[in-house]
Amino acid sequence: MIPESVISDIKHATDIVQVVSETVVLKKTGSNFAGLCPFHSEKTPSFTVSPTKQIFYCFGCGAGGSAFNFLMKRDGLTFPEAVKALGSRCGIEVPDKPMSPAEKEKVGLREKILLANRVAADFFFQDP
Ligand SMILES: [Zn+2]
Repeated sequence: MIPESVISDIKHATDIVQVVSETVVLKKTGSNFAGLCPFHSEKTPSFTVSPTKQIFYCFGCGAGGSAFNFLMKRDGLTFPEAVKALGSRCGIEVPDKPMSPAEKEKVGLREKILLANRVAADFFFQDP
């Protein structure tokens, strides 16, 4: 399992607009970007990317999430694989060795807080 601190470093070093642009032609619409969804077939763009929130969301098929989720869905990766793929793009190494119990305990609380924040953020995004 990957420490949440590494995941958050990679997240901050990654621009989701750039990642999505490799697959989707994005057009700026206000503060967001819109394009044709790569995950379902459509003629009018309902796929949006928020550079401020660093998330994507498709109003057509409901696909959404972070840059990690986009890579997982696009390339059929697992979460750790997506984290490693984005990490290598921005030069952040993902530790492979398992954490010691002491290390686990140290990051445990931090991760719970981060996870709670993330779930809350996702919830508010999907139900504005
Ligand atoms: Zn879609």
